[in-house]
Amino acid sequence: MSERTPVDSQVVIVGAGAAGDAAATALRKSGFEGRIALVGSDRHPAYQRPYLSKEFLRGEIAEERVFLHRPEGYRELNVEWLGGRRAVAADRRESSITLDDGSSLPFDTLVLATGGTPRWLPDVPRLSNVMALRTLDDSVSLRQVLATSRRLLVIGAGFIGAEVAASARAQGRDVLLVEAAPVPLARALGEEMGRVYARIHREHGVDLRTATTVRRWITRGERVEAVELDDGSREEVDAVLVAVGIEPDLSLARQLGLSTGAGGVVVDERLQAADGIYSAGDVATHFHPTFQRHLRVEHWQVARKQGEAVGRIIAGQGGPHEEIPWFWSDQYDVKLQYLGHAAGFDRAVRRGDLDGDRFSIFYLKDGLIEAVLAMNDARTIRLSRELIRRRRPVDAAGLASESADLRELARV
Ligand SMILES: Cc1cc2nc3c(=O)[nH]c(=O)nc-3n(C[C@H](O)[C@H](O)[C@H](O)COP(=O)(O)OP(=O)(O)OC[C@H]3O[C@@H](n4cnc5c(N)ncnc54)[C@H](O)[C@@H]3O)c2cc1C
Repeated sequence: MSERTPVDSQVVIVGAGAAGDAAATALRKSGFEGRIALVGSDRHPAYQRPYLSKEFLRGEIAEERVFLHRPEGYRELNVEWLGGRRAVAADRRESSITLDDGSSLPFDTLVLATGGTPRWLPDVPRLSNVMALRTLDDSVSLRQVLATSRRLLVIGAGFIGAEVAASARAQGRDVLLVEAAPVPLARALGEEMGRVYARIHREHGVDLRTATTVRRWITRGERVEAVELDDGSREEVDAVLVAVGIEPDLSLARQLGLSTGAGGVVVDERLQAADGIYSAGDVATHFHPTFQRHLRVEHWQVARKQGEAVGRIIAGQGGPHEEIPWFWSDQYDVKLQYLGHAAGFDRAVRRGDLDGDRFSIFYLKDGLIEAVLAMNDARTIRLSRELIRRRRPVDAAGLASESADLRELARV
């Protein structure tokens, strides 16, 4: 048992991405005076992944703009950033983790913010022009490949696949986007919105093939040069991006005997997995006090806010984490925002015209608003937070009417 007080004990954060960086920063800003070690297997200090499929990939912003902190920034915060180091083992009884160089780090409090690794499909060859996108180095490679490519094949029309398709079109590349589901983004947004996105991508010249997979890879040396789709068509391509989601990195959680669920480390309202162990970000399955169920969300702002909350909680300054999940995706000139979490909804109420360039959809379950999606409509997102938070039945006709004031609905 440690004799040190919570404010000057040793915190080890594994994973120096969005959530890990936020946890380290918030710990210090909340007055924690002990040692903070931030272990990250990436050789770079934390950076903003959302740029990697958008502005950075298109060459619109320089590399230095993507970083959350530079090494000197961590030094100023008195955070020991251990970059390019992987934690390979964790021992709960010993309260220590082992790094890939064999050294060990004792902890009083451990934060798992390990994010995830891109999924790879078993039949996809690992060749020089076939890549995934998660890290800054991945984005640099994809940028280089795109510069000399005429036609990019993207496997998977989830957010990352769809955003890269949009960025590649903006740079004048031909894009073949292959999706196994009947419409893009259906898993995240439902069929109706999927059809809207299918239309938008086709209007921007993407060759989108849905309900389709690659059945044969045609290679020459170290490169894929064509694919055969399951309708028998042969398509020439210069480069391939595999964008079929991530596998959360759970190996340390398993070694620590933590409970896992929905693909992540199960944590309570205060993001705690076990005594002295917390988790945040893509890898955390959080019991959300507003929704009264476990949620695992793979989005930027959720990871940042959870990380900040963990930092504050460890420093003795935080309560249950109640932030409503929020994310955005930019494709072409379309800005999507989504607030809440609609795992299962029984009613979708539209506000505005789905064929227009600005509208919102409210997702309801048993009369309560679970989530709202807004296309080029930031105001509706802003005004909906209270509607979601209050957990009271809402007048659906009012939601659908563009002239009704959402603030009034939240007061009823
Ligand atoms: C290209 C791209 C675009 C995106 N765009 C958007 C967007 O527009 N909007 C949005 O909301 N979200 C977006 N996201 C998602 C968002 O970036 C993630 O949800 C967020 O980065 C998750 O943060 P995290 O800290 O949980 O994980 P990460 O940021 O992945 O950080 C985890 C870190 O842990 C490290 N790690 C893992 N295991 C170990 C170990 N054993 N030892 C040491 N280090 C370890 C990894 O190297 C990694 O750096 C995008 C993601 C990508 C890849």
